Amino acid sequence: MTKPLLQVSDIHVSYGRAEVLHGISLEMQPGSIVTVIGANGAGKSTLLNALMGIVPSKGTILYDGAPVPRSVEERVAAGLCLVPEKRELFSTMSVEDNIELGGFLRNAADRDRTRADVYERFPRLKERRKQLAGTLSGGERQMLALARALMARPRLLLLDEPSLGLAPKIVIDILNIVSELRKTGVSILLVEQNARAALEIADHGYLVELGEVKLSGAASDLASNPALMESYLGTH
Ligand code: ATP
Repeated sequence: MTKPLLQVSDIHVSYGRAEVLHGISLEMQPGSIVTVIGANGAGKSTLLNALMGIVPSKGTILYDGAPVPRSVEERVAAGLCLVPEKRELFSTMSVEDNIELGGFLRNAADRDRTRADVYERFPRLKERRKQLAGTLSGGERQMLALARALMARPRLLLLDEPSLGLAPKIVIDILNIVSELRKTGVSILLVEQNARAALEIADHGYLVELGEVKLSGAASDLASNPALMESYLGTH
């Protein structure tokens, strides 16, 4: 077995006096897609924010076999990159300027190379590169958020509900793009409420309820788990 890219042990997070993550542990192999599924308020975004260093946590986070660096900036430099639920694009800036911001830590030659790759992967964004980000459709905004993240050449991409608010067909397009990204060697931790779609592209899944891991396993096993099907996947 290869060395895990990420080993999270017994993570606790509190907001003020309220603890919302009560000892979460998970593991990711390099090059894999792992999904964290669960209802609203389960603590999924909090988990990603803790991994990125945006909220403080107790517990151990090993990245590539060593303790993850402390600050958000050092984690970005080490190859972690979060695409937040609200996308957080600069809506009064153009598509190309938003993309450029994702590469701010890299030198000009690296940026040029990566920008070319990114536009090849997202031809729609290339066509619309002069358009203001605030005028994009929901699906295009999510593509832009992914494109901006890719400019940092991440090793581990943390995706917070990329399908949120998108029409079912666009959800499929976005998750196909996520699945394609894995082929470039990037590992993906995918937080989703859309459990069925997420488990379809993931290798491994964790079900989080009220700040705890309730169930974990191979994505295909979780997708065929009757209790989970009933609670989270709907019956269709
Ligand atoms: P959703 O899918 O709705 O985004 P989630 O699983 O991502 O839900 P979190 O956003 O991590 O859940 O929230 C977990 C719990 O922590 C919730 O009860 C939420 O109200 C609480 N919480 C989140 N952020 C804060 C904050 N900044 N201050 C106080 N409580 C917070």
